[in-house]
Amino acid sequence: MTERVALVTGANRGLGAEIAKQLRSRGLRVVATSREPREGFETLDVTRADHAAAIAGKLAGTGLDVVVHNAGVSLDGFDADVARRTLDTNLFGPMRLHDALLPLVRAGGRIVMVSSGMGSISSVRSPLRERILDPGLDRAALVEIFESFVRGVGDGSYGKQGWPSNAYSVSKIGLNALVRVLARELATDARRILVNAENPGWVRTRMGGRSAPRSVEDGARTAVWLALLPEGGPTGGFFRDESAIPW
Ligand code: NAP
Repeated sequence: MTERVALVTGANRGLGAEIAKQLRSRGLRVVATSREPREGFETLDVTRADHAAAIAGKLAGTGLDVVVHNAGVSLDGFDADVARRTLDTNLFGPMRLHDALLPLVRAGGRIVMVSSGMGSISSVRSPLRERILDPGLDRAALVEIFESFVRGVGDGSYGKQGWPSNAYSVSKIGLNALVRVLARELATDARRILVNAENPGWVRTRMGGRSAPRSVEDGARTAVWLALLPEGGPTGGFFRDESAIPW
């Protein structure tokens, strides 16, 4: 049997490091990636299209079975620059990287997005909420909706549009919407690739802080479970503790 290969973003610490460790312990070869050059890691800043292209080129002969989009930021403050940088890392980064890596993903591949409970659509007001949840939403409409958040933070209209005052939350709402769009895009792909989002809960990492109730082991478990789903498993869903949860 050929060795299964997984790529994990932001694998140098926190949940990404633990997801990489658990995947290795399940027998996968892990391509651990990190934003900064580090020994033992492939350099991959998810905001850099040239990095995505370079890693795709490097792995073209190897192929991939699992991609875990874990890298993320929660920045201080709330202004147009924070909104743009947050969405670029947490939403548009995974989108670009997915597109660069998809040609390498083998039949039976699994794509996992590490999302958040803060990505709950409940913080978005109608009718924007219905636009995001529209089962016909496509990639172009998704990009336009989430770019309008960044513009809205810049000109002060974001609240009127129905957005919450939290760029991290909006970025993860976007990531969840992306999972649904990708699942639809992949529905006709003969490789039977499954794509899902994980809510790890509040986890003790640099981002989560010391008072978070969950360990990295607990936070990583559902991402690993989604990475190893059997054939015929769910796709286009949002999971916490190996159970489906609402958007
Ligand atoms: P963390 O310890 O702060 O780790 C974040 C990781 O993302 C680091 O490896 C960081 O790299 C990397 N990263 C940030 N920007 C990047 C970029 N542009 N390109 C590549 N890597 C980048 O936080 P964590 O808790 O493990 O977070 C992992 C994921 O879990 C994130 O998506 C986060 O939103 C999500 N999450 C966490 C919690 C929680 O309670 N901890 C809850 C819900 C969701 P550097 O070391 O170079 O900064």
